[in-house]
Amino acid sequence: MDLNLLPEEEEYRQQVRAWLAETLPKVMAERRARRISGIEWSKKWQLQLYEAGYVALAWPKEYGGQQLDTIRQFIVNDELVRARAPGVIGAQAINLLGPTLITFGTEEQKRRYLPKMLRGEEIWCQGYSEPGAGSDLASLRTRAELAGDHFVVNGQKVWTSRSRYADRMFALVRTDPAAPKHRGISYLLVDMKTPGITVRPLVQMTGDRGFSEVFFDNVQVPRENLVGQLNDGWRVANDTLYNERNLGGAAAGNKQVFNRLVELARNTKRGGAPLIKHPYYRQRLVDFQITAEAMRLHGLRQLTDQIHKRQHGVETMVNKLVGSELTYDMTKMALELEGDYAPLLSGEERAPDRGYWPMNLMVGMGLMIGGGTSQIQKNIIAQRGLKMPKSPD
Ligand SMILES: Cc1cc2nc3c(=O)[nH]c(=O)nc-3n(C[C@H](O)[C@H](O)[C@H](O)COP(=O)(O)OP(=O)(O)OC[C@H]3O[C@@H](n4cnc5c(N)ncnc54)[C@H](O)[C@@H]3O)c2cc1C
Repeated sequence: MDLNLLPEEEEYRQQVRAWLAETLPKVMAERRARRISGIEWSKKWQLQLYEAGYVALAWPKEYGGQQLDTIRQFIVNDELVRARAPGVIGAQAINLLGPTLITFGTEEQKRRYLPKMLRGEEIWCQGYSEPGAGSDLASLRTRAELAGDHFVVNGQKVWTSRSRYADRMFALVRTDPAAPKHRGISYLLVDMKTPGITVRPLVQMTGDRGFSEVFFDNVQVPRENLVGQLNDGWRVANDTLYNERNLGGAAAGNKQVFNRLVELARNTKRGGAPLIKHPYYRQRLVDFQITAEAMRLHGLRQLTDQIHKRQHGVETMVNKLVGSELTYDMTKMALELEGDYAPLLSGEERAPDRGYWPMNLMVGMGLMIGGGTSQIQKNIIAQRGLKMPKSPD
């Protein structure tokens, strides 16, 4: 097997790298100057990336994409992580909802929503989880009743990331309470400005108000906003979840965290010697490196499957499980290396590595939960991947 890029792909990689080297310093300087709000700045950055041709390269041309091959998208993602470029504000929409709409949406839905999604003109949030319906998502109770040309939605979502400023939500609702729980669910696109929607922010331990509770009180949603068939939302929802789990485990991201950890071990001394020389830490670093490399190769195998349009299995659950746990374990080791200085956050004068690691630990805990917990990924890998029997309840 030849894992190298073709000469024209390598040339493309250099082109992306050069663009980032020239553009990123200016973009980051603007962010530091804080002349515009964080959200406006993030939208502008997404538009800049899109106009340079680096967002959703493989999407069909008629919906704003370039219909390029998956390898080019892979190269762009890799280079963005390598350059430590900020993520795009519309990532959830582009990576989760977008591909689902391309598969299940009506022509009108695709033309109406996809181009604005790419340009960052409309921000989306994901309305899946509810109190009592997280891991057991199919138990969701938010009700949508069909009344002529619209649905009337009542209920509550929780942990809805970005809902504080999102323009729209892709939501799962119960449309047939009498049907078995997986069969009475539908997938709706909701305008967040519709009367009857209340968003109540939740404060996370990072101090961030990244997600909220969202309440629906007789909210009217046009019938044409249904994605897929009525009561067939579970199938549509799983397509989106598949994309989400793929996102969670980006191997390039793990590699960057690993490189940063090695730097920290090199620069942190105890008893006069850098900790990277200590056999205990060296052993752990090598273990992380082996896992990160295995994930990189796992990613390349998935890329090959995508290129050959092969049916996917549980590979994305492996990405999500191993990727999020690896980042978390590496972060814990970094905090051990930092010793007593570990709790100092960004902005504190004596914070090692600019306070990156304690924040990463708090964010990393969330990554092992969001999009399905590690335990749930293990259950799916065991049952669907390894064909192990389901445990009796
Ligand atoms: C950072 C972050 C962002 C999020 N963003 C969104 C979002 O934008 N939209 C959205 O809809 N949701 C979002 N969520 C919610 C997320 O999807 C849920 O938190 C997750 O699915 C777990 O559900 P829960 O919190 O209800 O926990 P529970 O399902 O109550 O689980 C509690 C514990 O029990 C374990 N458990 C449960 N069932 C089993 C089982 N069968 N076998 C073994 N162990 C089990 C779980 O692994 C977990 O450890 C987000 C969560 C986080 C942390």
